Amino acid sequence: MLDVNHVTKKYGKNPACDDVSFMLEPGSLTVLLGPNGAGKSTIIKSIIGFLKYDGRITVNGIPNKTSEARKIMGYIPELPSLYPTLTVVEHMEFIARAYKMTNYKERIEMLLERFELADKKKKFGDELSKGMQQKLNLCVGLLPDPDILLMDEPLLGLDPHAIKELKNMIEEMRQAGKTMLISTHIIDSVDMLWDRTVIMQNGKVRANVSRSEIEGQGKSLEDLFFEVTEGLSPDSVGKALSEDVAGEKESAAGNSAFAEERKDAAGDSAFADEKEADEAKGEQEK
Ligand code: ADP
Repeated sequence: MLDVNHVTKKYGKNPACDDVSFMLEPGSLTVLLGPNGAGKSTIIKSIIGFLKYDGRITVNGIPNKTSEARKIMGYIPELPSLYPTLTVVEHMEFIARAYKMTNYKERIEMLLERFELADKKKKFGDELSKGMQQKLNLCVGLLPDPDILLMDEPLLGLDPHAIKELKNMIEEMRQAGKTMLISTHIIDSVDMLWDRTVIMQNGKVRANVSRSEIEGQGKSLEDLFFEVTEGLSPDSVGKALSEDVAGEKESAAGNSAFAEERKDAAGDSAFADEKEADEAKGEQEK
């Protein structure tokens, strides 16, 4: 069980995540939906331990930044961060060693084969096309086969074969009882068997609903998304929203203009926090 408890992350004075709470049940697939700038990446980076924040995140009761918790979690970032001087296969071996994996050669072969990188093994990171870098990013994230996998916009930039392959792998991981959190701003891409959706907007959780609750109301995920993010009557959202969230909806329109301004204002502190993230990542990879 992964428990995100009242997490607030601010850049300067601006909250990118504002009092965010949700849980990932063991073996469940949760879709984290929200428009650009909603705070999805920020909460994922907080969970994996790359950012400082207020609040508490635990994995099976253990604080998320401990090495014990980190061993259980894996992360596929939105943007690949590859090493220009390592080849495709060296990237994979580097991660295998970092996670102290044994018998990893077969899994490396399998992943590179499935994502059509088997003939690119000796290419360096900076010799790969953008799409290939994205696929290597996926292979690196999938390699350790963690119990909990956090994927930030994993379908972006992939070709149709890789999209199909990733969806197959998600289904396989689901059957193997893995816990997954997948963020996206493209609702159409969520055609896999998800169990729960958490919808964020302007740094806040606007809805946290199970698949059966939505289906019980005869709604699609898209219906719910627009009800929640475009401020339709709370009645039409029914049980999906807590009273608390419904109250916040009154200010949703104002908030979205504010969010744009906030992006600019927050820019100043971007470097500091990205550095912090990189340092944390470096530490994790050591
Ligand atoms: P999403 O992943 O939903 O698109 P993000 O979590 O990336 O949203 O961003 C949430 C908010 O935090 C946005 O307003 C964004 O501009 C701001 N933000 C994200 N990263 C930084 C950063 N490193 N420095 C300053 N502001 C940031």
